[in-house]
Amino acid sequence: MPHTHTSYLELIKTVREIGMLKSVAGVLNWDEHTQLPPKGTEHRATQVSLLAKIIHEKFSSAHVGHLITEMEASDLLHDPQSDAAVNVRELRRDYDRAVRVPSSLVQEISRVAVLAQSAWAEARRKSSYGDFQPFLARILDLKREEAECVGYRTCPYDALLDEYEPGETTANLNVVFASLRDKLVALIGRIGASGRKTPLDILERYYPREAQEKFARMAAMKIGFDFQAGRLDTTVHPFCSDLGPGDTRLTTRYDENYFGDAFFGVMHEAGHGLYDQGLKPEYFGTPLGEAISLGIHESQSRTWENLVGRSGVFWKHFFPLVKDAFPAALAGVSEEQWVFAANDIRPSFIRVEADEATYNLHILLRFELEQALLHEDLQAADLPGAWNEKMKQYLGIVPLDDAHGCLQDIHWSMGAIGYFPTYTLGNLYAAQFFEQAQADLGDLDRQIAAGNFAPLLAWLRKNIHSHGRRYSAGQLVKKITGKELSSEPLLKHLGKKAREWYGV
Ligand code: ZN
Repeated sequence: MPHTHTSYLELIKTVREIGMLKSVAGVLNWDEHTQLPPKGTEHRATQVSLLAKIIHEKFSSAHVGHLITEMEASDLLHDPQSDAAVNVRELRRDYDRAVRVPSSLVQEISRVAVLAQSAWAEARRKSSYGDFQPFLARILDLKREEAECVGYRTCPYDALLDEYEPGETTANLNVVFASLRDKLVALIGRIGASGRKTPLDILERYYPREAQEKFARMAAMKIGFDFQAGRLDTTVHPFCSDLGPGDTRLTTRYDENYFGDAFFGVMHEAGHGLYDQGLKPEYFGTPLGEAISLGIHESQSRTWENLVGRSGVFWKHFFPLVKDAFPAALAGVSEEQWVFAANDIRPSFIRVEADEATYNLHILLRFELEQALLHEDLQAADLPGAWNEKMKQYLGIVPLDDAHGCLQDIHWSMGAIGYFPTYTLGNLYAAQFFEQAQADLGDLDRQIAAGNFAPLLAWLRKNIHSHGRRYSAGQLVKKITGKELSSEPLLKHLGKKAREWYGV
């Protein structure tokens, strides 16, 4: 059937061009957050929105729709696991989403989001929720409208969640997260009651910036990040940007009076970067060359940041090196004190500063509240009260003002509703994958203690990175571990940590 093959080649050529344009937009975005002088902001915004318009028009064109439909009828898709079938299946998904939401609604959401973000920034500065509330109400109205356009099986939240975590459902997350919540609340309560306090001051000594950068770079290189195919630069809100084959950009920020920010931040972003560097270059621009979901992406960053980077075995190798790098700050500090300091668990108000365990309760709270807001079980006006009530219930603390409560995150002002759960999904996937990696690799602890990360990275490459979007996140976790997504591996990991450091 030469005719259908020609259509497939035409479809792939078109999406590759779109992938190329997206990576050009990525360079502009990276530059905006690392290099751009303040007066260039407006021109950059014009460049970026022009590109976004071209990309959207090119992809949502009738031509692309026609090519996809033609392919769906072709025998090239006979084997549903063939490259062509996977690409067409995923392009159909993306295409339907792109054409179902009218461009007038897309434009209105981005217009309101710009206003809402600046209202949010000002409201947060003054800790004045009332100033943000009408913007949040408007965003929620628009996102409800978007959900109706996209369509859903059970509830509007499904439609929004599906953008970030394709194939996942609200109902499933509610079950999995509930099984995490109660046990985690109890565990954190026991840790608090243990009376043991982490020697946090060790991390808050003077760590010169240059030495921090050198040390973090060395660690990223040792875990396998390829600096011939990537960079590390400085920014305000750290991120990792995949600009295409051979070009993955990590960013971080340095606080000379806190070791954790840059070091664990670089381990986190390098985890994202290793995923990007593990995507197959020959699939660039097609679904087979793209990451599955935000949750799976986050699982890779959390693996290296938390499961590897905070483990005792990791510091078996790195403690002598960190002592050499910061002799003044670490004079007289033992390996045990150091690792304990890196594993602090205690309730706090701000999500982005939260530890590995309490972090998930910050997410569960947001997940529950944004569902209630979207489904109109909770009015925007009642958000601060509902927030504080859940903080008390889950973490036993109540913020003194909304800046430290419901105004702390930018997400809702940007219209990103359904995004928060992907963070905890990342932790859950990470723990479940890691347990399997330990079983498959046998002596993973010994490898890590010896500074040998190649077997773990090869395992992640083979089982996760190389597949692109061939499997959904749910299918992948089943394929790798033989089980559905579960909260057990994460609870087991955190429970072990609590016994080890807090004796509970
Ligand atoms: Zn991340």
